[in-house]
Amino acid sequence: MIKAIKGFNDILPEQSAKWLKLEAVLADVLGRYGYEQIRLPIVEQTDLFARAIGGATDIVEKEMYSFADKSDPPTPLTLRPEGTAGAVRAVIEHNLLRGDTPKLWYMGPMFRYERPQKGRYRQFHQIGVESFGSALPDADAELIAMTHLMWQELGLKDEMHLQLNSLGELDERQAYRNALVDYLTDKQDQLDEDSKRRLTTNPLRILDSKDANTQALLADAPKLADFLGSESVAHFEQVQAYLTALGIDYDINPHLVRGLDYYNKTVFEWVTDKLGTQATVCAGGRYDGLIGQLKSVGTRENKDDSKPVKSEPGVGFAMGLERLLLLIEAVAPMAESTACDIFVVAHPEVFTAGFSYAQKLRYSRPDLRVKMASATSLKSQMKKADKSGAALTVIIAQQEIDDNTVSIKDMQTGEQTTVAQDWLDATENFTRS
Ligand code: ATP
Ligand code: MG
Repeated sequence: MIKAIKGFNDILPEQSAKWLKLEAVLADVLGRYGYEQIRLPIVEQTDLFARAIGGATDIVEKEMYSFADKSDPPTPLTLRPEGTAGAVRAVIEHNLLRGDTPKLWYMGPMFRYERPQKGRYRQFHQIGVESFGSALPDADAELIAMTHLMWQELGLKDEMHLQLNSLGELDERQAYRNALVDYLTDKQDQLDEDSKRRLTTNPLRILDSKDANTQALLADAPKLADFLGSESVAHFEQVQAYLTALGIDYDINPHLVRGLDYYNKTVFEWVTDKLGTQATVCAGGRYDGLIGQLKSVGTRENKDDSKPVKSEPGVGFAMGLERLLLLIEAVAPMAESTACDIFVVAHPEVFTAGFSYAQKLRYSRPDLRVKMASATSLKSQMKKADKSGAALTVIIAQQEIDDNTVSIKDMQTGEQTTVAQDWLDATENFTRS
């Protein structure tokens, strides 16, 4: 038997009802903040991710699903591991920043070759949000405030803790990077294996190492905060001041660095203690250099890709929908919902009449979910009605047609009555609970 690929999950009907609810709540809040949806391709050129996310990151080093297509010469392509790179590509390609500051969101599957476990899959889903064109700290604070309202609407307000840090600007980070490498180089024997490797490839990632020895070493290491210039410090303080004004609690986590190279200044994560090591549900930050970095690729005036091209600021975040659902399941489970309110059963000999009745009801009562079984025996249709979760079953046989009535069975009490054929058209006779 052919099975699904490891780490790629089916979302079965009972689950998908919960997905739809979650997506609806999140889309509603996004709409309330004036954010608009953008739909992006799932496949992009590999180069886009390599350049945007950075070569020395977990994603680009070992997590991408990359392949060559059948063109001649083949184009290196990758299933998107995240959404920001594609969103930025689209914004540049369609000139969306000309005279505008787009506030965009997207939703859909992302792909990373990771070890599957609870809250970590190879195909997973994100809702991501990007706010372009403002370098000011209110843009950062607005995104965080929006997620805060999302947690409120989902009943997760008390489960989510906000962690903040500032990565400063590139030159500040570079000065810090040198200081950190200086400090760690003669202690590298005591580092965990990953951190040892990162000492030459991506030293800042050492800060979020899970290894206790490494963390102990870092206690006396130079602090990134001491390397930030006054502009970065003022920006970060203003983000915090806005959050305080909005009544949003946060902790500063000086070791929060994020796994993608494009961030500068504000980075943040919403974490929970209910999901074990997969604790981060939502994460993001500012990326003021990314647009310039991607714009510069292959442009005529910039053949060697090295000269900086004017950038435009951006800030965004992405949340993992599987983790959100796991958290909702753990603390505020959604009510089970049935797919059906009214089940229409029709005697096989007058099935057409039942078929038309159900069709008419769907037109007159758009608030109801009206289901039928196929034209099998009355008994087998009744069995399906029993299983359906419907509140009422409408039964139609020759007698009902002759009398211009329908029979109605209350599925809770089993009580059966005869009513006028158009009885269900009146909302006061039946509303779904
Ligand atoms: P982690 O540290 O858990 O690997 P990350 O820093 O790689 O997360 P991001 O790239 O910031 O994650 O993605 C944003 C969010 O997407 C995460 O906070 C998480 O909720 C979700 N996410 C990331 N990778 C996965 C995955 N493999 N499976 C399920 N959800 C994921
Ligand atoms: Mg990861």
